[in-house]
Amino acid sequence: MRRYGYLPEGSGDVDYAYTPHSISAAVKKMQEFAGLPPTGMLDLATKKLFKKRRCGVKDIGDTSSRHRRYILRQGWNKRSITYRIINGSSTLEKARVEEGMAHGLSVWAPHGGLQFYKLDDGAADIEVSFASGDHGDGFPFDGPGRVVAHAFPPPHGAMHFDDDEIWGSDPEAEDEDVTDFFAVAVHEIGHALGLSHSSVKASVMYPYYQVPVERLHMDDILGMQELYLKDQLAEATEAPANEILSTPQVPRFTKADDDDDIPDLCFTNYDTLQVIQGMIFVFEEEWVWVFRERRQLEPGYPRRYHEVFVGLPEHVNAIRTIYEMRNRNIRIFAGRRYWEFDRSFHLINKGTIYEYGIPRQIAELTTVFVSNYNNKTYLIEYEQFWRYDDETKTIDRGYPKEMSAWRQVPYPVDSALIWKGDTYFFRGPRFWRFDNTLVRAHEYYPLPTAQIWFDCPTSPDMDRYVVNDDS
Ligand SMILES: [Zn+2]
Ligand SMILES: [Zn+2]
Repeated sequence: MRRYGYLPEGSGDVDYAYTPHSISAAVKKMQEFAGLPPTGMLDLATKKLFKKRRCGVKDIGDTSSRHRRYILRQGWNKRSITYRIINGSSTLEKARVEEGMAHGLSVWAPHGGLQFYKLDDGAADIEVSFASGDHGDGFPFDGPGRVVAHAFPPPHGAMHFDDDEIWGSDPEAEDEDVTDFFAVAVHEIGHALGLSHSSVKASVMYPYYQVPVERLHMDDILGMQELYLKDQLAEATEAPANEILSTPQVPRFTKADDDDDIPDLCFTNYDTLQVIQGMIFVFEEEWVWVFRERRQLEPGYPRRYHEVFVGLPEHVNAIRTIYEMRNRNIRIFAGRRYWEFDRSFHLINKGTIYEYGIPRQIAELTTVFVSNYNNKTYLIEYEQFWRYDDETKTIDRGYPKEMSAWRQVPYPVDSALIWKGDTYFFRGPRFWRFDNTLVRAHEYYPLPTAQIWFDCPTSPDMDRYVVNDDS
């Protein structure tokens, strides 16, 4: 636990200084970070967690903030970054390692406006090597299993992989003993670009080994944007300069709460929001809140959404988007798949996003909603969207279109919904109302989601916003 940052660094012979209480508190923190019930005890799930393959970088560093999911270090202060593969592993030849790295870098590059150049010799910004045991950097590897790799943040940028693992390059391989190089490389590249671990299980920066890695999670993307694109984002929303300085554009924080693991809606972003059966559904982590009106929480909520949507598979641990179809059935999306529920929230069907006719290279839809203006279904990916006609079951001509068509609405958006005849877009802790007449976001926006949609205390600043919105 000391290795992962949960106990203070000792000089080796001070282990007796850890009291049962401090160890239990550390176990609890580690459980919370991993998404396990924070019992503070070495239960079976926790013992298993200790044995899991994972990254050797600490979950909790000296500079960590308790109020962010991803913990930022610093990014590269340039956009062109060189990398070099020093060697292959005992089980994976260098050419396969180069392929995996090139693919991994291409996953991250667009989200930071970065370009990567491979060098065959000389010093590179990011140097990739395989080594076993003590390899000279003070962080010795531990033989087969457990720690499989680690990487250093800029300006060092080295990525080390444990050569005692059996590395493979086929994510479909069923062999439990083989560690997929690409899955680990994508994660370690995140460190080499300046990101730290995330407690969001579906994110690439979650510290434990997970396969397959298909694409970045919004949490990873937000981290990159904050590191590399903050200036552009600030310009794009035309917010007053002093506001940008005091509040980052996309804060993604969850209030730390030692008593239970229900996120506080007043201090978090939202996985998605949607209007279903005339009520506002808010999803965050494994929970759903239902509001009859703005700021009017239905009794009994929040609840775990697996209890509400009967038949939703347990492995769906983050709801990407959800919408009410024109026939009043409900579809929940995660990755390429959807699950369809009837009006009483029982699973009746499932399928993939490709049934809408969108291209195969699209790995997920981030937002789906039905417009009250034309009854069409809008399928939004990160920077583009399709308009789907539910009558003809086809995508309308001329799509996809760029998200910039929704003028003054920043993208990618986290969710979009229709409430009392108006179209709203949500991103991070804020929302925008789209003006169908002006065909742009209304000038008063963005506004803080927590104070206007949920019953969160207002600050003097917020009062001003609430007046505007209710006018
Ligand atoms: Zn890591
Ligand atoms: Zn190392």
